[in-house]
Amino acid sequence: MNSRIKFFFIFYLFIGCLLTPQFLQAMAVELKDGQYLQGEIIGHDDQGFEFKRWDNEGVVYIYWYHLPPREITRLKNFLNVQPAEEKTKGYRVYTAGSEIFEGVPVEDSAEKLVLKNINKTRTFSKKEILKTETVELDLFAVYTKDELYQEKNKKYDLNRGVDNYNLAQYCRDVLIDYVLAEKHFRKAADLDPSLQNQVNLDVTGLEKIELNQEIQKIMKFLRENDIKSAKEVLQTIKNTFDLTNSDLNKIVQQTETAVSALEQQVKENRQKGINKKIINDWHKELKSLLRKTAGNTRLTYSDAIQYVANLLKKELVKKLADDYEIIEKEVETIWANRDLKEAPQKTAGYGDGSWILFRLTAPDNSTIEEFAKYREKIRLINNARRLAADKNKLLTSDVWWEQVSPTTKEKWLEAYFAERQMTIVQVKKENCSNCQGEGVLKSKNNELCDRCQGETLEVTVIYQ
Ligand SMILES: [Zn+2]
Repeated sequence: MNSRIKFFFIFYLFIGCLLTPQFLQAMAVELKDGQYLQGEIIGHDDQGFEFKRWDNEGVVYIYWYHLPPREITRLKNFLNVQPAEEKTKGYRVYTAGSEIFEGVPVEDSAEKLVLKNINKTRTFSKKEILKTETVELDLFAVYTKDELYQEKNKKYDLNRGVDNYNLAQYCRDVLIDYVLAEKHFRKAADLDPSLQNQVNLDVTGLEKIELNQEIQKIMKFLRENDIKSAKEVLQTIKNTFDLTNSDLNKIVQQTETAVSALEQQVKENRQKGINKKIINDWHKELKSLLRKTAGNTRLTYSDAIQYVANLLKKELVKKLADDYEIIEKEVETIWANRDLKEAPQKTAGYGDGSWILFRLTAPDNSTIEEFAKYREKIRLINNARRLAADKNKLLTSDVWWEQVSPTTKEKWLEAYFAERQMTIVQVKKENCSNCQGEGVLKSKNNELCDRCQGETLEVTVIYQ
């Protein structure tokens, strides 16, 4: 047996007097250092169990603290040890006044029964009790943590290392009080230096449990996207725990990485949200400025296009920069970097003002026949245009501007702005809907088409 194994075992010379007899329980037991022992449990008490090894037939006493926690739980369940720690015997009384009360007896005489539980102490006269049952009560339903601790304290000799060690385990496993547990672990090592290595493991174990509880808090805050609270807990951890321990330090660092990653994510999402709003507002503001321009009757055609071509965008950017309290350059960058895959496609038509900007042109790569047709078309249009001029019916852009509705102007200006400042998906050139692209009206004796002014086109801009 090597020295490490020796450390874990205390041989008992007089086996049996302290132990609860058991059926032989064949099993493998895992020790804290990762080794397995094959054998039989031949007895146990609240500090450990007696184990007969199959490899050398030796009988050893193994303290619970020699085992990893999951193994303690497994074996205690198996041996039915744990329930005795968390349950206590008590009474349930039924009274004539239909009261049912559970508690442990504080006083039990011929005349009265005094029961206590965690909420109150109740005195019953024996006469009023109809029935009394013996029941197993949950320790914490009967005693406060402090009462349990004081009670346990009396049972141990706290001048002994092993007793402090066992009390520490009780504080850790039953009372879930890690401060008290650490106090008694440390005292155990002070009194019995042979426990020092074990105590070091246990104290680190306690810190891991406590650290884990703090990290659960952080995880909860992270799930709620509450980065601020998560960082506060993280800072508390750094101030409180001894992170020279590499195990603890690793856990803290992983947590810190998770917090930073989420923080970054939240920042990006927030920026994305703001960008989205700015882009939406861009469209809204554009519409509002175009409407204002189209509705201003004092503006001539050339005033309006000058403004839309040169000033409107600047005004738009300035308004958004003021609204969001950022610099104009930033608004422009956000706009320029918008995701065109997500951007809606908008449509603005020049309508019956298309002729101002778009002229009839000769067809490309046409055959002789096609070109002859085109020349004939031009001849008819030119004739019609001359007749219209004679009757003073030829439109100028200024006259058209004065005649049309603000809605028509607004659409026209939108298309004009889009072509200069927005991302164009398509400039759609279609035949004029009035003359079907002939430029003259056959039904009206080849009179000039008053919608396209002989230019034959109707132009729509699709943009983002
Ligand atoms: Zn036309």
